[in-house]
Amino acid sequence: MKFISTRGGETVTGARAIVQGLSANGGLFVPEKFPSVSKAELEEMLGMSYPERATKILMKYLDEYDEEGLLAACEAAYAKFEGIDPAPVVRLDEGVYILELFHGPTCAFKDMALTVLPYLLRKGCDICGIKEQILVLVATSGDTGKAALEGFKDADGVKIMVFYPNDGVSKMQKLQMCTQEGKNVNVVAVKGNFDDCQTAVKEIFSSEEYNKILAEHNVMLSSANSINFGRLAPQIAYYFSAYLDLVSSNQIENGEEIDFTVPTGNFGNILAAYYAKQMGLPIRRLHCASNLNKVLTDFLQTGVYDIHREFYKTTSPSMDILISSNLERLLFEISGRKPKLTAQRMNDLKTSGKYSVTDEEREKIALTFDGGYANEEDCVEAMYDVFIDTGYTMDTHTGCAMKVAVDWFEKNKKDETKMVIVSTANPYKFPQDVLYAVTGNDVKDSFKGIKRLHAATAMAVPKSLKELRDKPVRFTKTADRKKLFDEVLEFIKK
Ligand SMILES: *Cc1c(COP(=O)(O)O)cnc(C)c1O
Repeated sequence: MKFISTRGGETVTGARAIVQGLSANGGLFVPEKFPSVSKAELEEMLGMSYPERATKILMKYLDEYDEEGLLAACEAAYAKFEGIDPAPVVRLDEGVYILELFHGPTCAFKDMALTVLPYLLRKGCDICGIKEQILVLVATSGDTGKAALEGFKDADGVKIMVFYPNDGVSKMQKLQMCTQEGKNVNVVAVKGNFDDCQTAVKEIFSSEEYNKILAEHNVMLSSANSINFGRLAPQIAYYFSAYLDLVSSNQIENGEEIDFTVPTGNFGNILAAYYAKQMGLPIRRLHCASNLNKVLTDFLQTGVYDIHREFYKTTSPSMDILISSNLERLLFEISGRKPKLTAQRMNDLKTSGKYSVTDEEREKIALTFDGGYANEEDCVEAMYDVFIDTGYTMDTHTGCAMKVAVDWFEKNKKDETKMVIVSTANPYKFPQDVLYAVTGNDVKDSFKGIKRLHAATAMAVPKSLKELRDKPVRFTKTADRKKLFDEVLEFIKK
């Protein structure tokens, strides 16, 4: 399978797309066409383990990788998850399910892909005959950074550097990153919010001058952000797996269409669901859930994407994003795969903070997507109601999705389509906010929050979070966003 850029120009292999991360003209790599999964293949996948299912989906796109190696990598990756099933589907209510994607080493859904990406990247370098040292640069709104650090720590021939917005991540997220172990890792705080951080990192990727300097040091850049197809591909797998689990537990018939509600920031997770649908998975609608930073909700309603608005710091920090990078891939599809138009829109976004799609395109998007958002109070309310009604505890990001799903139910009382709400983080990752939502108790300290939340819910505390308290902090540096490349140079010279 070949990959093309959303902004035209380049055609590459899957391995190359993963190693390079971003196309030279700033576009994102997308498959030349969507591979399909037939009903018979779905049937065949019913009896498979999660790593087998994931390998099957990955091989559809990455056919130059060898299947055995990929399966071994998936088995090793998902063995790092707690419990037997890395992505269990939990029944919440009649026709309503939660897909739990937070059982990985860092307790957020990013682990689903970032435990596999190091293999995809290393193998990709072999396939492409790349000899340079790889430097993975990551801009994170909190969860990607930690998951990438954990995935790449002590990997051969790779260094990883993570930038996070100084005041934009939760205390637990910051602690997780700043205590990271490993010889090849570095973490730097950036003055500004996530968009500033992401824009600064993207500039390093697209700067000829910077890349030339790196080449002189025998270093090549790669990305672990969700713009990398190597992030997207493993995410497609869990939509298939969730569907298959519902079939095998007799909740749905094979072929029956279902809905997903996805808490969304950079549009990576929900885009993977759209890809699954394009491949033939029976998905009816995708509900895109935002927090107060509801740029996507507005876009889906009006067809205008406009970042000129207040930026809110919320209790769901991984969704505090105004520039949703992966939306570019959807725009490309919806435009009828027009690279020039896509490039034009992305340029409009860069120069004027705004672009729009035609009414026809907006209607096309609306055939699959709708969007809603939760303000801070809505989110607390949704988490509380679920806890009281069912005893289930969810994190703040999932709380936003819950609110959007409940709004859908209320507006569509006769709709009997089964709904899967995607849960993206372990509640203990945001202990104070979750504790407040389910008990009304306000505590000042995260670890006290964990203790009380455990007392209130009896839910097991993940070992990796419990241990954080006693880990030494290794990284304390804060940098100006204009000076990130200096940090990069310093790190590669070490
Ligand atoms: C990253 C993240 C999201 C947003 O996912 P996107 O792929 O960026 O849309 C939502 N919730 C949590 C907990 C996350 O870590």
